[in-house]
Amino acid sequence: MNVLIVYWHPEPLSFNNAMFRTSVETLKAAGHSVKTSDLHDMNFFPVSGRHNFTSTNNTSFFKQQMEEIYATDNNGFVPEIEMEIQKLEWCDLVIFQFPLWWFGMPAMLKGWVERVFSMGRAYGGGRFYEDGIFRGKKAMLSITTGGLEELYVKGGWNGDIDGILRPIHRGILEFTGFSVLAPQIVFGPARTSDLMRHIELEKYAIRLKDVFKEKAIDVGSY
Ligand SMILES: Cc1cc2nc3c(=O)[nH]c(=O)nc-3n(C[C@H](O)[C@H](O)[C@H](O)COP(=O)(O)OP(=O)(O)OC[C@H]3O[C@@H](n4cnc5c(N)ncnc54)[C@H](O)[C@@H]3O)c2cc1C
Repeated sequence: MNVLIVYWHPEPLSFNNAMFRTSVETLKAAGHSVKTSDLHDMNFFPVSGRHNFTSTNNTSFFKQQMEEIYATDNNGFVPEIEMEIQKLEWCDLVIFQFPLWWFGMPAMLKGWVERVFSMGRAYGGGRFYEDGIFRGKKAMLSITTGGLEELYVKGGWNGDIDGILRPIHRGILEFTGFSVLAPQIVFGPARTSDLMRHIELEKYAIRLKDVFKEKAIDVGSY
C-alpha cells in the first residue's frame, strides 16, 4: 500500500523525529511504499496567497477557493503545491506526525493543509464527508504532548484529547473523505524516562505493522 507521512518538527534529534523515522522504517520493512513531506527540511512556505498559483483568474480581488477551482481546471498550481496534492492523491494512508502546539497543529503544518487541501482537488462540488474526494483512504494523527495523560481527560485541566483533536479529525480529514484511524499519542515524552520513550517507539512500530487492518474510529460521537 502507499503511505504518505507529513511531518513537522524543527529539531532533528527530537522525539517527534524518532517517531517519524520509526514510521518510515517500519512501513517500508512491511513492504509498503512510503513518501514523506518533512516540512522543516523542505522549508515549506506555509502562507497562502496568489503565489499558490502559476497565474490567477481574478487579478483585482483574490479569493483563494475560486482560484483553487480555476487552478484545478487549468493545471495552475505551482509545482511545490501540485507535488504535495499528488502525494495525497497517491496515498492509501496519510500519517501526520507533529507536536501538539496550542491544542492544534504547528503553523507550518497547518499552512501545508491550508495550501494543499484545495477546493477542486481535495473537496468541493458536493464532495464532502462520506462522498469526499479522498473516500477509501485512511488518515492518522501521530502526536506528542507536553502535558501528561491525566490532564487530557474529561474533567481534567485540558479536557479530553478526542475533543481537542476533533477539529482536525472532522474538519479536515473526514470533511475531505478520509477514514480516521485512532490517533497515536505519546503524552509528555520529555517528562519520562529513556526506557519509556523506547517502549513508546516500539509500541508504535508494532501498531504500524498491521495498520491497514484497523477500522476507522467514530469521530462524530465524541
Ligand atoms: C509553541 C508551543 C505550543 C505548545 N502547546 C502545547 C499544547 O497545547 N499542549 C501540550 O500538551 N503541549 C504543548 N507544547 C509542548 C509540546 O507539545 C511538547 O514539547 C512536544 O510535544 C514534545 O515532543 P518533542 O518531540 O518536542 O520532544 P523532545 O523534547 O524533542 O524529546 C523528548 C525527549 O526524547 C528524547 N529522544 C529523542 N529521540 C529519542 C529516541 N530515539 N529514543 C528515546 N528518546 C529520544 C529527547 O532527547 C528528549 O530528551 C507546546 C510547545 C510549544 C513550543
